[in-house]
Amino acid sequence: MRVPFNDLKRHHDALQPELGRKIQETIDQCAFIRGPEVDKFETEFAALVGVARCISCANGTDALYIGMRALGIQPGDEVITTAHTWISTSETITQTGARVVFCDTDTDTFTLDASQIESKITPKTRGIIAVHLYGQPADLGPILEIARRHKLWVIEDCAQAHLATYNGQQIGTFSDLATFSFYPGKNLGAMGDAGGIVTNRSDLADWMVNFSRHGGKGNHVIEGMNSRMDGIQGAVLRVKLPHLPRWTQRRQQLAARYNELLAGVGDLQLPHVAPGRTHVYHLYVIKTAQRDALRAHLTKENIETVLNYPKAVPFYPAYQYLGHQPSDFPNAFANQNQILSLPIFPEMEERELLHVIDSIKSFFKAS
Ligand SMILES: *Cc1c(COP(=O)(O)O)cnc(C)c1O
Repeated sequence: MRVPFNDLKRHHDALQPELGRKIQETIDQCAFIRGPEVDKFETEFAALVGVARCISCANGTDALYIGMRALGIQPGDEVITTAHTWISTSETITQTGARVVFCDTDTDTFTLDASQIESKITPKTRGIIAVHLYGQPADLGPILEIARRHKLWVIEDCAQAHLATYNGQQIGTFSDLATFSFYPGKNLGAMGDAGGIVTNRSDLADWMVNFSRHGGKGNHVIEGMNSRMDGIQGAVLRVKLPHLPRWTQRRQQLAARYNELLAGVGDLQLPHVAPGRTHVYHLYVIKTAQRDALRAHLTKENIETVLNYPKAVPFYPAYQYLGHQPSDFPNAFANQNQILSLPIFPEMEERELLHVIDSIKSFFKAS
């Protein structure tokens, strides 16, 4: 049996024929850039998250850039973010002309270690980007408290965490603004690039509408950029949106099954969910000292796994200029050699999950 890491073919087949019909409708209307489906998606997504506004854009990376520009970031400013994330979080800071300041993570949740943030604050610090990595919220309580005390803004990068909660409240609702990705493989994915920013602040929302569409239609109030959602992506996302709560539950069920059947196997450390948080398992990430050997074994068993990510961000060549050492981010550095993402997707079948479990058990029995 072959177990894919994710299977978008199954995901989309299950939504036919509605998906095909809505796409054809959009083609018939020639509503290729934005259009009625995108307008409706923005309203529906804002309602689902529980915020006043959603401003769609071309992808989750642009969402971060647009968000920082809305908050008035200037060249020379500093923004603190996590050492363990997808590079979008940090590359957009640099794009604005600001400087990336990395902070280490908590060993068990892989999210920002709030207790280390204050040591990174300087007179140039303007904001903090918290990433809800793998689907688990970052520790928003202390992060927001530090931000308030130092008059910093906070952006939540929610690209991996649609519908996750912190102390019973949905992520994306805590900070000045929050960003989402609808990249095809995300928990809510389009059929191409797509993203969005959510906020309760109408001043920021209005500014972002203009900025992402060339600074305003008909009257260019400011110089902006071109970052709009395609009509077809809006149509696809509207077909998918009502299913997101069910897909999220299914991910949580699969994770619970992994947790149950992998408990006590070898030296495995299973995902730790901190008190007060719910995890939506965009990724199910285990840790083991024998990561590379286990991964090779699973590949031989036809089980696809992924490293999210092969290195902590400060250790990529792109950030060599910052001159960081492993001892600057000991937790993120230790985790990068131990993490392994196992297959998890809403359409995954029990027999597939059991094949993954059996293969992991046979590896640890033999080793
Ligand atoms: C996917 C992702 C993004 C960027 O999203 P795109 O839509 O691919 O541009 C940003 N941050 C994190 C943490 C992500 O996982």
